[in-house]
Amino acid sequence: MGCLLMEGKMLLVDVHAHLDIFGGEEEVAAAVERAAATGVKAIVTAGVDAASNRKALEMRQRFPIVKAALGLYPAEAAKLAEAEINGELDFIRSNRNKIAAIGEIGLDYMEAKDETDKEKQQKLFETQLGLAKQIGKPVIVHSRQAEKEVVETLIRCGCKAVVLHAFHGSLSLAKSAANSGFFITIPTNIGRSSQFRAIAKALPLSRLLTETDSPFLAAMKEQKSEPADVAAAIRAIAEIKGLDAGETANVVFANYQRLFA
Ligand SMILES: [Zn+2]
Repeated sequence: MGCLLMEGKMLLVDVHAHLDIFGGEEEVAAAVERAAATGVKAIVTAGVDAASNRKALEMRQRFPIVKAALGLYPAEAAKLAEAEINGELDFIRSNRNKIAAIGEIGLDYMEAKDETDKEKQQKLFETQLGLAKQIGKPVIVHSRQAEKEVVETLIRCGCKAVVLHAFHGSLSLAKSAANSGFFITIPTNIGRSSQFRAIAKALPLSRLLTETDSPFLAAMKEQKSEPADVAAAIRAIAEIKGLDAGETANVVFANYQRLFA
């Protein structure tokens, strides 16, 4: 007969969320509280531009389990003048003692209207990879229709501490990223994503992390994901790998600690 004891609280982590656009102050506070009650020990909320970078720092100040990642999203490359970019990077550098990572950064060719935009994105991406190295922080990387370019750039730059978030590249590319020591996140929408089921199956647990991209990537379409939902991602990974959920959570949490230490 199976054990009737309730599964204890798992050690959980959400390495990628956007709490600044989750909702009003009380809504965010309630979601963070639900996450903590579920066992989430850390939520890394990411900025994408000047305004959200400041909000990420505010969130970190308000909630002990919230960590801040600051960065400029690829689309910012076409929007900002060089002086504005440099100003924001100086701001990030000056807050290095308060941040857990540089992100959300990367390449997004869907957002690029021409080659010039792509070049600007590439330059912004590489500059931020340099900054991360300089201040000794991991990077949280977005890629869309540019997965190969992103992985190649990271390898070429000699980046070691890397989280590939919502990665939609091929399985062989995911494997080569893992072989380079990068981590790949499994989001809460894994149940309706053959891509993430395939990644969870193919990559060793030692290369996986969990994220919600909250409020995006929910388990159910049209719904809002929240940090507490990482528990579902852990259960899905455990099921795919034939492991115990608590054990899976412990390994993923240890991955987080190793990377963000
Ligand atoms: Zn994101």
